[in-house]
Amino acid sequence: MSGNHEHDHDHGHDHAHDHGHAHAGVKPEDTSPAGRYELMALALQELLIEKGAITAEQIRRGLETLDSWQPSRGAAVVARAWTDPVFKAQLLADGNAAVAAFGIDMGDAKLTVVENTAKVHNVIVCTLCSCYPRALLGLPPDWYRSKRYRARIVREPRAVLAEFGTVIPDDVAVRVHDSLADLRYLVIPRRPAGTEGWNEAQLSAVVSRDSMVGMAA
Ligand code: FE
Repeated sequence: MSGNHEHDHDHGHDHAHDHGHAHAGVKPEDTSPAGRYELMALALQELLIEKGAITAEQIRRGLETLDSWQPSRGAAVVARAWTDPVFKAQLLADGNAAVAAFGIDMGDAKLTVVENTAKVHNVIVCTLCSCYPRALLGLPPDWYRSKRYRARIVREPRAVLAEFGTVIPDDVAVRVHDSLADLRYLVIPRRPAGTEGWNEAQLSAVVSRDSMVGMAA
């Protein structure tokens, strides 16, 4: 684990980011009764509507916005970092301010950006639940949310990476960063060889979602 994440995990973790709406994780064919979190979310939603704090239309629109977030947002940020050293420095120093230039609002979460180099490979996890830089990458993949990944990436990151086809040479350090409700990470992957002279649009097209959480090179 990286040394910069020694927080006590009892940090009032807010699970609203994962269970922020009643339909989270509900499959189209699912006719089973609502689970505990779904019931709690529904109850909260009803209460907020009843009290006039929010309307059903606002909730619907919020869900539409959440679903519209795609990894292309993060890829555009990475492509800019690859081509603009001043922007990259800003991104590494203050992620929230740097991505705001793209109209990306991280909300209350601090965005920490880490850069892969010839000597360091970074990979992201949320060991507690599935905190993920959604504003940059959209919804997290199932493997990222799985208990198995969350447990194993901390214990044996090189083995897990290799299972995803990402073999990290022995002379490259692997750093695992643990996300929190109020702390999200983005990885700047290494710029592929042979892309000299490419513009941002060309570069952003080759930035994969998984590379921005360190699971792909
Ligand atoms: Fe989490």
